[in-house]
Amino acid sequence: MRSTAILAFFWISSLLCAQKNENQQYSLPIDIPIFLSGTFGELRSSNIHAGIDIKTQGREGFPIKAVLDGYLSRVKVSISGYGKAIYINHPDGKTSVYAHLKKFSAPIIHEVRKKQYDIQSYEVELFFEPTELPVSKYEIIGFSGNTGGSFGPHLHFELRETKTQKPINPLLAHYDIQDSVRPVIHSLIAYPISEDAIVNSEKKDLQIPFQKFNDSIYVAEPIEAIGKIGLGIGTYDRHDNTYNKNGVYSITAKLNGRQIKRLQFSKIRFSDSEFLNTLIDYPRYSRTKQRIHKLFRSPGNELEFFVHLEDGLIDVETGKDYAYQIKVSDANNNNRYLFVPIKGKEQKVAILNKKMPDGKEIEPNRDYLFIYDGAEVYIPKNAVYDRNRVVLGFDNNELKIKADHVALRKAFQIKVMAPDSLVGHYLGILFENGKTGFISKNIRDNHFVAKVKKTGIYTIAQDTIPPIIIPSQLYDQRWLSNFKTLRFTIDDRETGISSYKATIDGKWALFEYDPKKKEISFNFDDYFSFQGTKHTLKISVIDNVGNESNHELEFYRK
Ligand SMILES: [Zn+2]
Repeated sequence: MRSTAILAFFWISSLLCAQKNENQQYSLPIDIPIFLSGTFGELRSSNIHAGIDIKTQGREGFPIKAVLDGYLSRVKVSISGYGKAIYINHPDGKTSVYAHLKKFSAPIIHEVRKKQYDIQSYEVELFFEPTELPVSKYEIIGFSGNTGGSFGPHLHFELRETKTQKPINPLLAHYDIQDSVRPVIHSLIAYPISEDAIVNSEKKDLQIPFQKFNDSIYVAEPIEAIGKIGLGIGTYDRHDNTYNKNGVYSITAKLNGRQIKRLQFSKIRFSDSEFLNTLIDYPRYSRTKQRIHKLFRSPGNELEFFVHLEDGLIDVETGKDYAYQIKVSDANNNNRYLFVPIKGKEQKVAILNKKMPDGKEIEPNRDYLFIYDGAEVYIPKNAVYDRNRVVLGFDNNELKIKADHVALRKAFQIKVMAPDSLVGHYLGILFENGKTGFISKNIRDNHFVAKVKKTGIYTIAQDTIPPIIIPSQLYDQRWLSNFKTLRFTIDDRETGISSYKATIDGKWALFEYDPKKKEISFNFDDYFSFQGTKHTLKISVIDNVGNESNHELEFYRK
């Protein structure tokens, strides 16, 4: 243990270097103390986070300000994803993005409303020329919210290179968020990779215990191994005065003083998310929801920011000792080290009679078509990252696609024969609680067709129940002159809502839709003009298989 510690200090002294290049010209997008609930490069369930999430004290409505002079280049309103989002292009070749907003500033609302009434849709996307809507630094462009795929009020803020639309890490050059807390390493896993590899007398992934040596250094129990092995860690970063577990900025690994792996979140590509499941130990994540960053390159990992030497593997030979050092850093250069001594040692492993796994072997480099009486499964090239077994079959009108803890890279195309007469029928996926989730009602040649990226049991189900439409209070036959908004709950428990439409006095009326609240709402504003005092409101809501509900009422307004 003592020799490891001395080595440790030797390694650190060669590592310290300043990485921050301050650039003070960018201002903050919001005027409240900055606490982050998400960092750049953080691994999420289906993507790598492209910006920072700024906490808004659990509330909505804080003014959002442009961080630099520029012009409004794009505005998008979507019921999912970024919700209401603003894009500003700046003269330095960068674009700032502000997402999940509650509403836009007046000049932007004006453009958005025109477009919404023009194409009769709440969801719109607008692009602007540099001269149309110039924006100055500190100008209020909107208000913080919780729209789109956001779970709780916050501001998602992003910086991109305008030309390539590649997101860059805002915390590196442009912002200095107070952070003096070192990243945490909570797990270390060793993986025997080659056929002959053994770790601590086992031929399987092993959790390796480690201990705190001092404030910044952990030391693992020595590993006895032989053959090619790889390591992985579970890690997160905390900032001052907040308990959110955020993503780290970089992970570096050295073997006997030589860097063999570096992973650094300074710039990513949106397409990188396709390889997210090769970066983590996916089977473990699938079983336990715990993310382990693998410090070696797995088959199918095409991540550019993942720099490896010799794929990050350690070729352990009998009688040799290895010093493996992991350094985890946040964007403020707070570091944590984990030292892993490895001893090359010949070992005997009890050979268990390995049970042959079930299913068809699927290779990434070719495509497959499986035809059954009443169903089909097409697996395209590169649908899996690595060779895997998938159990397939069609029985009792149930199409089974089973592959425990296997990450899918591309969707499988499936077909299931549809019944002769369709009454709210659809292709669904069976959940463990016996309920069915909606997948598709698209029909081609008497078959339901769908692209699916989830394994499970697919079957034909039926939904004949139309959606519900409930006014949030009594509007019918009332005077509503003092009302600012009209609100309705809309919901469909079986297959979900596919579309909604509202008219007032026969004219299309803009209702905003928030699926999280299951609510549509109309704002009395200047973009809809009322004639006379008596008005008829008609709302129609259609579910995913075409069941339609209608609600009609009359109100008075001066
Ligand atoms: Zn975010």
